[in-house]
Amino acid sequence: MTKDVKGGISENIRQVEEHIRKACENSGRNIQDVTLIAVSKTKPVSMLKEAYDCGCRHFGENKVQELVDKYEQLPKDIKWHMIGHLQRNKVKYIIDKAYLIHSVDSLRLAEEISKEAQKKGVTAHILVEVNIAAEETKFGTTREEALALVKEIAHLPSIRVEGLMTIAPYVENPEKNRQYFADLYQLSVDITRENIDNINMGVLSMGMTGDYEVAVEEGSTYVRVGTGIFGERHYNAV
Ligand SMILES: *Cc1c(COP(=O)(O)O)cnc(C)c1O
Repeated sequence: MTKDVKGGISENIRQVEEHIRKACENSGRNIQDVTLIAVSKTKPVSMLKEAYDCGCRHFGENKVQELVDKYEQLPKDIKWHMIGHLQRNKVKYIIDKAYLIHSVDSLRLAEEISKEAQKKGVTAHILVEVNIAAEETKFGTTREEALALVKEIAHLPSIRVEGLMTIAPYVENPEKNRQYFADLYQLSVDITRENIDNINMGVLSMGMTGDYEVAVEEGSTYVRVGTGIFGERHYNAV
């Protein structure tokens, strides 16, 4: 679904927050349990400052270099979310800067994160990315392999699984993704029942501009909204 985004950043944020509030109301959820991540990839620091001034403290980036650059230029109380595919050789640059890494989909990547976190004396907080709709073009572990991966990561030092993340299919009608969000929620319930040490399933990162209301109704705790706040992205512009 393409939403017409015409307003200024502050107006957009107010609108998104209002939609989240309504979705919580519809589903009997507490608004405190849902956090809006402003996905600022490709957008200039000036626009992030504007969102910051509206109260946004959670920002999402999908490229290591861009996250590091913006981290250095913006206030230190911002919580940076690494939401994009992460290469192992770049983990070291963000390990002490990312508040949460959403995109862990292999043991090898988790091992690298664990190793770098140990070196820096920090604990890395991560989500396991699940390709819930089994789309060929997407990263993420399969629904079937998620539990096994979580169990393996549980043994690693200096890394803590906080929950699951998914990128749902791009659809015109967000209702088409409702079942996928419900499936990710159910998967987190199933993993919780296993009572694995060092594993938390409190976080569900799901929902983007086109479908975040439905995701909230199905249990999302972090929605990742880019276009709905900052407008369309122009990848060819620098
Ligand atoms: C870009 C991106 C988003 C935001 O997408 P919008 O449709 O602009 O809200 C959310 N999650 C991930 C992983 C992304 O890469």
